[in-house]
Amino acid sequence: MITGKNYIGNQLSAKGTKTYLTFNPLLNIENDTCYYSATQEEINEAVTLSVKSFKEFKKVSGIRKAEFLNAITDEILALGDELIQIYCSESGLPKNRAKGELGRTISQLKMFAELLKEGSWVQATIDTALPDRSPISKPDLRKMLVPLGPVVVFGASNFPLAYSTAGGDTVSALAAGCPVIIKSHPMHAGTGELVASAIIKAAKKTDMPNGVFSNLNSSGIEVGIQLVEHPDIKAVGFTGSIQGGRALYDIASQRDEPIPVFAEMGSINPIVILPEAVKTRSENLAKTISNSITLGTGQFCTNPGLILGIQGDSLNSFIQNLSDEIVKVEPTCMLHPNIIGNYEKNKDKALQQKGITVKAEYDSNVDANYARQTVITVLGKTFLENSTLHQEVFGPFSLVVQCKDISQLETIISKLEGQLTGTIIADNSELSRYTGIIEALKNRVGRIIFNGVPTGVEVCPSMQHGGPYPASTDSRFTAVGIHSIKRWVRPFSFQNWPDHLLPDELKNNNPLMISRLVDGKQIM
Ligand code: NAP
Repeated sequence: MITGKNYIGNQLSAKGTKTYLTFNPLLNIENDTCYYSATQEEINEAVTLSVKSFKEFKKVSGIRKAEFLNAITDEILALGDELIQIYCSESGLPKNRAKGELGRTISQLKMFAELLKEGSWVQATIDTALPDRSPISKPDLRKMLVPLGPVVVFGASNFPLAYSTAGGDTVSALAAGCPVIIKSHPMHAGTGELVASAIIKAAKKTDMPNGVFSNLNSSGIEVGIQLVEHPDIKAVGFTGSIQGGRALYDIASQRDEPIPVFAEMGSINPIVILPEAVKTRSENLAKTISNSITLGTGQFCTNPGLILGIQGDSLNSFIQNLSDEIVKVEPTCMLHPNIIGNYEKNKDKALQQKGITVKAEYDSNVDANYARQTVITVLGKTFLENSTLHQEVFGPFSLVVQCKDISQLETIISKLEGQLTGTIIADNSELSRYTGIIEALKNRVGRIIFNGVPTGVEVCPSMQHGGPYPASTDSRFTAVGIHSIKRWVRPFSFQNWPDHLLPDELKNNNPLMISRLVDGKQIM
């Protein structure tokens, strides 16, 4: 049997006895490569190497880090069809999705490489000395962002490329100057190992310190826990369930030295349909929202799991149209039997709640691991009284809440848990009448969308992907786009430090030609 190993820095390693296989959900069979879970000894080795590499890596220039990221791009692209094949065999996702996600992964790498080449992201701030100031002299102070240290990143099940081994968390942390240890997602260990091999090749080619990147496998939660508990780990990136993210957050905050956990977790992404819009556009809305609910078998963190409207004939006809549309969609395969198991379990729990009505459920036979899309409805009062109905059902599922009036709609929005996104569907003419609704929604989300759907996360600097808890553990940061680098740095000041010993970013003659705030003025 072929075996998959851990990368402890540049070295492949398989010291343990615990092994596991990945699973092909489309064929409903196990794949044939056997992966070795990392042992405590291997975890310690990876962290020790990571600490050692940090001493050097934190001083590597932006230009050289950009070369490293560009080399990762080249090495990932060189993996060719082998990467696409293993991705599909471990996720059940189609080739086009694999290629699209690969494109996103590459564009993220390139964006961070450009950010590093330009260099101003460190927010260099200089206040020159005023030795003659009275009554006390002012010292020379110079501040910039510096890396935190070794970071642990958890691969996400629903993004085997763009939010896993060389995904957004890893790339932003490497760009910041932090070594990364990946806790690979067990469902796609093979995809992870292949991408890890590309990162290691790139690190060697660009002469990065050994230990700047490690990839550890495991099929149970203990490796992740040991990593987060390790005193030399300084921050954590996570995408997944609220239970998983919260458990890691609690572990990190109970350490002798608490560390930040940037977890992106559950979100039901409410869509609010205002009265005029539902009256005039019911059919089109139903098609668009049905496509968004079923996109990627509902396995996106921005999937619309909640639709809010005012009860009446117009909303009833929208619900009917949505139900008609959604059962027309051919069911698709979920990522893994565990994910479909959770989908069925959480859906059944919602279906058992008092006062709900099932409006649509795909009822023909489906293959193993295929999800049946479902739409249910409930009255606003019942929704308000039952927090179970506020929970994420990860998959092609949505709940339509029929609110008594605008006041109840506003109350419901204000009682929602934190969300990644909120959407307002409205006619332009009615917007100004519902400012209370819009303000209430803005208070619960990280991104507000007008007349669109929440799925489809553009990767660009102005994207906010994060929101009030439990959408993410820290709503001040984004997990997507170049500003995600800010999660892995801290501000650091030098006082009266000799110019030749300052980092280039803060030297008097600005050798990197970056934009800096000098004595209150932003200058090049
Ligand atoms: P998950 O269960 O949260 O697992 C993600 C990672 O965290 C895995 O590597 C897992 O380790 C680790 N983990 C989970 N619980 C942990 C704990 N208590 N302590 C330490 N580590 C822990 O997510 P998943 O495997 O991707 O899918 C499970 C469910 O999460 C889905 O069915 C879905 O409901 C939800 N989910 C939500 C989103 C979203 O964007 N909202 C995305 C993905 C998943 P091991 O796998 O090694 O045990």
